[in-house]
Amino acid sequence: MNEIERLFRPGVLELKPYTSARDDFSGEALVFLDANENSFGSALGPSYSRYPDPHHRLLKQKLSEMKGVSPESVFVGNGSDEAIDLLIRAFCAPGRDSIIITPPTYGIYAVSAGINGVACKSAPLGSEFELDLEACRSVFEEGSKIIFLCSPNNPTGNSLKREANQSLLKSFDGVVVLDEAYIDFSEQPSFLLELGNYRNLVVLQTLSKAWGLAGIRVGMAFADPAIVRVLEGIKATYNVSSLAQEWALRALAKEARKEELVKALVAERHRLAEALKQVPEVDKVFPSDANFLLVRFNDAKRIFQGLLDRGIVVRDRSDMPGCENCLRISVGLPDENRELLAALEELGGRCPLRGQEPRASERTAIVLRHTQETWIRVKINLDGSGRARIQSGLGFLNHMLEQLSRHSGFDLSVEVSGDLHVDEHHTVEDTALALGEAFAQALGDKRGIERFGFVVPMDDALAQVALDLSGRPWLVWELKFGREMIGDVPTEMFSHFFRSFCDSAKCTLNIKADGQNDHHKIESVFKACGKALGMAAQRRHGASEIPSTKGVL
Ligand code: PMP
Repeated sequence: MNEIERLFRPGVLELKPYTSARDDFSGEALVFLDANENSFGSALGPSYSRYPDPHHRLLKQKLSEMKGVSPESVFVGNGSDEAIDLLIRAFCAPGRDSIIITPPTYGIYAVSAGINGVACKSAPLGSEFELDLEACRSVFEEGSKIIFLCSPNNPTGNSLKREANQSLLKSFDGVVVLDEAYIDFSEQPSFLLELGNYRNLVVLQTLSKAWGLAGIRVGMAFADPAIVRVLEGIKATYNVSSLAQEWALRALAKEARKEELVKALVAERHRLAEALKQVPEVDKVFPSDANFLLVRFNDAKRIFQGLLDRGIVVRDRSDMPGCENCLRISVGLPDENRELLAALEELGGRCPLRGQEPRASERTAIVLRHTQETWIRVKINLDGSGRARIQSGLGFLNHMLEQLSRHSGFDLSVEVSGDLHVDEHHTVEDTALALGEAFAQALGDKRGIERFGFVVPMDDALAQVALDLSGRPWLVWELKFGREMIGDVPTEMFSHFFRSFCDSAKCTLNIKADGQNDHHKIESVFKACGKALGMAAQRRHGASEIPSTKGVL
């Protein structure tokens, strides 16, 4: 037995992995009658009626070429989280063995150890979040099987020093797992090319971060073939779906695009870090080699709650050792980071990135609507410039809401995760309700507004939208469709959309349209409605009265 085999959990090498008949056959088969698949296809056609390749051969081949390691050294998992769990199971006997972590670090190492009945010992990082070699060595003496090092480290963002990692690789009697989930955001070289120098090195990487594919769940472990063989033997047979394997291969063929994304993200990380340093509530922005920033606030719990109240979710890491008062903030899109900074301004700071943009205290609103059927976040700025970011899950509804935003001049961000597997109904209805509510909130007390809006745009269709921000919900709808669907939205949902909007925005809408082409008819209605809303919400210069003789609207 050589030095790696000695480390495996007793009995692991004797386990007999599940084999499929396809393992015994390597030619081009004409007829597959071995795996009890549905030979008649699926509800979606024939494409996915077969089990995926359990050995991920194509993916391994591609990864091996890209990374410069042999295919026998590549393990592909359902995220690198799967590899973490399998490594613990491969080396550690429940109730007997232990792993070492270096907190503050990624939480899954300890969670996976706990699930597997394996003890977890700590060698905390130093004050600058660097490895404390002395602390590590004193824990080594207790005979742990694995030490997990994370570089760049989550949640601190810094890279561990190369020499310190090397020193551990040489002096530790067990396996050193180097988690490089964030390596692409860093200038540091990977440890992959050192695989040949250290049999006890395992490098973890993932498609979830720089490659932007967290949703498909593909992660990798690179290691000595003896380790990879054991991981293969104890994994779930079909651990990576055909869809995930295909998408991973498609993405890996576009490495240049990944490089562009990384470059853009790193530039935005620098901008965000600089902007955060100007916020008085911020005590320290830690240097980061990752796609997030660890930020120490004067009162992290208050900021965390204040951000949540505004619909902005960050990660509270203040209970981790060495991270008192720290929040971990992923780098968002420039718009999202501006929202974050605007929210921090409201919570007591200043906001240097926003430059000339309208103040958040002006006519803006964020509405979160969360039911069993839909999760919706709408952000609106009535004094914007018609910029839209719409993700409703329905292509045609996105297109219509973009029209509404462009022609009203409102900045509009709509994110929806709805039960589209049921049908479009809840998504369309709830989006309209949230949009109406956001509009009403942003409109506030309606002082100085024009109140009425009216427009008659033409295509081959004639759409007429008359609007009164009256405070009274009322819809007149005179529009007939010849088609049942336009794009992915049933036509019956459009009157429903406007009724829901009227109900929550509390306005009167009178909509009529004629024409030949249904797409044109509804598109001109959305355009006209945008125009009418923009006109009615406009403030007359210098006016501050309520535009009603009643004095309330
Ligand atoms: N390692 C680290 C350090 C991480 O932060 C994460 C995800 N947050 C993972 C591994 C897991 O990645 P995956 O999506 O590949 O399971």
